[in-house]
Amino acid sequence: MARILDGKAIAKQVKDELRQRVSQLRETGLVPKLVVVLVGDDAASASYVRSKSRAAQDVGIDAEVIQMPANIAEDELIRALERLNEDNTVHAVLVQLPLPAHLDTDRILMHVHPAKDVDGFHPVNIGRYATGTPLLWPCTTAGILEILERSEIPIAGRTAVIVGRSRIVGWPTAQLLLAHNATVIQCHRQTVNLREYTRQADILVAAAGQPSLIGPDDVKVGATVIDVGINRVGGHLVGDVDFAAVEEKAGAITPVPGGVGPLTVAMLMKNTVHLAEIHQREKEGF
Ligand code: NDP
Repeated sequence: MARILDGKAIAKQVKDELRQRVSQLRETGLVPKLVVVLVGDDAASASYVRSKSRAAQDVGIDAEVIQMPANIAEDELIRALERLNEDNTVHAVLVQLPLPAHLDTDRILMHVHPAKDVDGFHPVNIGRYATGTPLLWPCTTAGILEILERSEIPIAGRTAVIVGRSRIVGWPTAQLLLAHNATVIQCHRQTVNLREYTRQADILVAAAGQPSLIGPDDVKVGATVIDVGINRVGGHLVGDVDFAAVEEKAGAITPVPGGVGPLTVAMLMKNTVHLAEIHQREKEGF
């Protein structure tokens, strides 16, 4: 039976450590501030934003949610982001995705200043981690590293297979594992015979958004399986991995819910604190 990698417990450790860092910043007069921009009234997005606000409050970060109407014009949204870029009390800005269809997500994300881009989606920040000088890593990717490191799962020299290549999860995760010296295989919808690759994985990251994509025959005995997927099936949340069957074969596995999800939120807080600390150092002239 696999070891269950308890994301909730790891996220709690991360947040406990952050509380310390936040109180040190507060002693210098700086209150880390995260602004979440929520466009429209998508229920799932609103619920994610609520959990981000709660987590911020929990560690002492000042979180503000700016709610914009679903029909907002692109230029108006960009002007709002530019005001946040100029506001020295704001250290981190997040645009909750997905945006309504009439908005050009790539164009909008370009207008979050790279120094406040807490999600790591700005091309400058993608370029930084792709060239080995990351300012920060996207939250889910950073959360996966946190799970692996705190569970003492070695990365260097291991074969890591990532199913998914999105800008939000799959691609940065492949870059991060490569930067930590794994041998990386990246799979996607056009991968022929997916199983041939997933069965090679010492570390298998499933980030496809397809329930039951990964079953026991897709996994090597003893592998570490990180299930990023969040899918609603029959009123329940499930991942991309057939947990009950794969648990029998894997060496370690993250559950859904309670695996990667809590880390994504915790790493948003860690990235916010990181950006606030950089802001503080720059203010002091270091
Ligand atoms: P996207 O839909 O943007 O990307 C999915 C990726 O998976 C694509 O690269 C796609 O390939 C690939 N893919 C889809 N189906 C298959 C398949 N059958 N075989 C191989 N590859 C496949 O999704 P995201 O990356 O944004 O999210 C992935 C999942 O992770 C979702 O369930 C999402 O809800 C969840 N998620 C969870 C988070 C958490 O905190 N736990 C945070 C963010 C996302 P191609 O490029 O060829 O289309």
